[in-house]
Amino acid sequence: MPANNLYPSVLFFGCPGSGKGTQGVVIAQLPNMVHLAMGDIFRAMDKESEIGKEFLSYATKGQLVPDELTIRVFHQHVESCIESGEIDLSYHTLILDGIPRTTAQVELLSKMIDVKRVVHLMIDDHDALIARLMGRAKKSNRPDDADRSVIENRIRVYEQETLPVLESYPKKLIAKINADQPPLAVLRDVADSLVGFISTKI
Ligand code: ADP
Repeated sequence: MPANNLYPSVLFFGCPGSGKGTQGVVIAQLPNMVHLAMGDIFRAMDKESEIGKEFLSYATKGQLVPDELTIRVFHQHVESCIESGEIDLSYHTLILDGIPRTTAQVELLSKMIDVKRVVHLMIDDHDALIARLMGRAKKSNRPDDADRSVIENRIRVYEQETLPVLESYPKKLIAKINADQPPLAVLRDVADSLVGFISTKI
């Protein structure tokens, strides 16, 4: 456990379809890194459980799950990974994908995480984004990717609620990445942005 008792973390920001999941998974192949995607944590829950049902009631409309519940699920997930030995905080940096998404979540998380770097994947081409998400629905079996109006709502929620979150962090921690590039070029820029900010020693 680090001396300050906080989870060392890198935050990945980007609208739905920006590639933050793909990039997060690849970066997390490095030693000392664990990728935690909030959407994956929610989707892995039992769909018949109370929380599972509540998640679906929001996600199918493209809405965010309430803040307190989201942070509680996140905290329980990390703590159970620590308990099982999957995460060792004296060794791992967490790559957080999709959390925090509101300024209220920033506040709740401030007692839990130590932000080492913020990676902002920026996309200009919205039409390509929507086409990409609708294509993903066929492969990933995600109902929230299948419907254009749900996708548009998620992009709207991202712009209204999540983009302002970036202002909560010091500018020097934020790396702006052009995510309209091919994935390999994005990966190069993401990797470059992390050098010197996180430890990757074996
Ligand atoms: P995407 O970012 O591509 O929309 P995610 O897999 O990250 O998809 O999230 C899917 C859904 O899970 C969101 O639409 C939302 O309902 C819920 N969710 C994920 N992360 C959060 C969060 N930090 N706060 C609230 N809801 C969340």
